[in-house]
Amino acid sequence: MLASGAAVAYWQGGRADDRAVADDAGDMLEAPTAEADVPPAPEPSADPSESPSASSSSSSSPPPSPAPSDSPSATTGTIDIPATGPGTFTTAQADGSVVGTGSRVRRYKVMVEGGIDVSASAAAAEISAVLADRRGWTHDGVNSFQLVGSGSYDFVVKIATPGTVDRICGAAGLLTRGEVNCSVGTDVVVNLKRWVLGSPEFDGPIGEYRALIVNHEVGHRIGHGHEGCPGPGRPAPAMMQQIKGLDGCVANAWPYDRDGRYLGGPAVP
Ligand SMILES: [Zn+2]
Repeated sequence: MLASGAAVAYWQGGRADDRAVADDAGDMLEAPTAEADVPPAPEPSADPSESPSASSSSSSSPPPSPAPSDSPSATTGTIDIPATGPGTFTTAQADGSVVGTGSRVRRYKVMVEGGIDVSASAAAAEISAVLADRRGWTHDGVNSFQLVGSGSYDFVVKIATPGTVDRICGAAGLLTRGEVNCSVGTDVVVNLKRWVLGSPEFDGPIGEYRALIVNHEVGHRIGHGHEGCPGPGRPAPAMMQQIKGLDGCVANAWPYDRDGRYLGGPAVP
């Protein structure tokens, strides 16, 4: 035990050096250190923890056949997560619609690696909904977003197997270790494992965690840097590296609240 603990500490120390090299990649890398405890989690058993309240509300009378009731809720958490994939991607088709009224139209693509059980169109719909949300970046009145299926684009969200994430991010010198997301240039590379299982650091539904990924990375693409916790009990800024810890803030996925107030914090270098 002692030996393994020492090994982990040494290993994390080594990674910290890597992170310092490329911080904006830091997001991607923001996770490695904090998620060193993730490896045990990716079992399907991690998913039930997302919905203990739902099951506990009916806990007084366990159903006679628990298997059928388990399968629907487990659907999103139990798709196969292949260790790696072909490295080829399917691009979501787009109808050209723009969300937001801002004059700066940011064109983006959504691509999903072949061989994984996530449809490009479904992922695009989810990402588009995050960007269109009233609590999202369009609320700044400046930016709007257009999903495109071809042609030029400002950024692309790629959902990929852990192995492919490591390869893309690794080519840019980023160590994602099969666990975390990264951004490289215009590519926002989302690890399928995180898309499906979320993060143990984010206490909320998987949809909210996906919203945080989208809002944080798109926030960078439109010029926002990192922000810190503004005070105990306050919502953590979307631009906070929440995976590193919340500093007393409450996990939050959105740049704005429902009343249109920016949920920011002090700038972090
Ligand atoms: Zn970041």
